[in-house]
Amino acid sequence: MHLTNADLHSHSSVSDGTLSPEDLAARAHANGVELWALTDHDETGGQQRARDAALSLGMAYLTGTEISVSFAGETVHIIGLGFDADDPALLAGLAQTRGGRLERARRMAEGLAAAGIPGAFEGALRYVGNPDLISRTHFGRFLVEAGVCSDTYEVFRRFLTEGKPGYVPHRWAGLGDAVRWITGAGGVAVIAHPARYRFTPTEEYALFTEFIAHGGQGVEVITGSHSTPEQQRYAETAIEFDLLASRGSDFHSPAESRTDLGALPDLPGRLTPVWEALQHRVQRPG
Ligand code: AMP
Ligand code: MN
Ligand code: MN
Ligand code: MN
Repeated sequence: MHLTNADLHSHSSVSDGTLSPEDLAARAHANGVELWALTDHDETGGQQRARDAALSLGMAYLTGTEISVSFAGETVHIIGLGFDADDPALLAGLAQTRGGRLERARRMAEGLAAAGIPGAFEGALRYVGNPDLISRTHFGRFLVEAGVCSDTYEVFRRFLTEGKPGYVPHRWAGLGDAVRWITGAGGVAVIAHPARYRFTPTEEYALFTEFIAHGGQGVEVITGSHSTPEQQRYAETAIEFDLLASRGSDFHSPAESRTDLGALPDLPGRLTPVWEALQHRVQRPG
């Protein structure tokens, strides 16, 4: 049986990716993606362009976003799929979540200046495609260009993670709020890359049970940021919690991303793909 090549996690220059929505759509299509979602961080400004580009290439499209949430002292990402992109409460919630990024970025630059790296705010801004969405990734690109680090992974390890000079703690959206913005707009909420959080088993159990209690329905099982054992582990978690399973590369940039659009293993056959539950929300060409 042919499984749909769905890629439901990717970033454009409207957040911290380097390609335009149109160029991403073309790359996804060239890689054989049949169902695509652009999931910019805390932002839906690229949705119309992504959808138009996908449909004109003959590729099906689901609306998407990746919302930053604070939970148990950690930043958790919740993906929204198949929502109404004009929903006022969702748009207001995302705008509120984006707010504070500029001030955070100024403080990040202060920390970096104190560590002997001046000009990081202006440097990072040069990489920003959307002034509302300055992120750690843009600092990463600047520090690589400035020759301070050889790649963005090294930048995060040395400068941008907790306890490091450019790290500034930030309060993002609440878990329940993020889930309700998505479900209230007719979409499905999905826990992104669950293996990436530094949770104890108790905290992880709390994340899943609270997420479900708020109306969350999905978990990302196959993602560019999961190893094979992590994929297997979260396939079990999807079954244990009776969650829909998602699949997405988390592609940001041809130069930086290890996993290309659509270049992922299939979801294990025993899982229910999130896109089966979203058939009525899929936008199709012609
Ligand atoms: P922000 O929303 O500003 O905190 O930035 C988070 C983004 O930074 C993520 O979406 C990733 O694109 C990127 N990121 C986070 N951790 C790492 C890491 N360890 N290495 C490379 N990129 C990372
Ligand atoms: Mn990102
Ligand atoms: Mn993420
Ligand atoms: Mn992402």
